[in-house]
Amino acid sequence: MKSKQKGMVIIMSAPSGAGKTSICDAVVKKNKNIVYSISTTTRAPRKGEKNGKEYFFVTEAKFKDEIKQKQFAEWAKVHNNYYGTSKKILESIISKGKDVLLDIDVQGAIKIKKQYKDALMIFIMTPSLKILKQRLIKRNKDTKEVINIRLKNAEKEISYIDKYDYLVINDKLNESIKQVENIINCSRLSTKRNKVIWRKK
Ligand code: 5GP
Repeated sequence: MKSKQKGMVIIMSAPSGAGKTSICDAVVKKNKNIVYSISTTTRAPRKGEKNGKEYFFVTEAKFKDEIKQKQFAEWAKVHNNYYGTSKKILESIISKGKDVLLDIDVQGAIKIKKQYKDALMIFIMTPSLKILKQRLIKRNKDTKEVINIRLKNAEKEISYIDKYDYLVINDKLNESIKQVENIINCSRLSTKRNKVIWRKK
């Protein structure tokens, strides 16, 4: 019989506009064993975003207080705002044997990987930077100034691709969702991840 094993930590990073949120949402919706970790941020909510759903929206003072109290497994300043992953949320998900999906930037990804050596790292990118720019403009969520900051950051983020286990080029959304699910399913079966269960038999 299988012993209770901790869930897997799945890290998904991508430049803004690459379609990561759509992919994450679909993967979580379709796979009951994968739970999204809601981050804390100082960014202002966008139209339609609700506190406790997309993020926990807090002031900078509250965020810094949470840093002091060591409540974050990782935190980073991204596009001039603070973002952090709650240690408590992450641990409570994986200790139930569920997989946790972290939608975090490259700096946060590296920090999580140091603590959770078996974490699966997936990078999502558009077929080109030109397409990324077009998508950012089309989604009409950000001002021109914010789009420019995000594009500048994209080039920096892309330089981290080789730190990730897998790269998904998001050309067709449905294909990308399938690819991410396949990567996760394969990773669950890796010998490294199943060693403990195997030896206990
Ligand atoms: P957005 O403001 O578009 O929702 O997110 C901006 C960036 O912040 C994205 O790259 C997203 O992955 C990243 N992000 C969201 N939550 C966290 C977090 O908890 N930690 C880190 N390091 N990055 C995060």
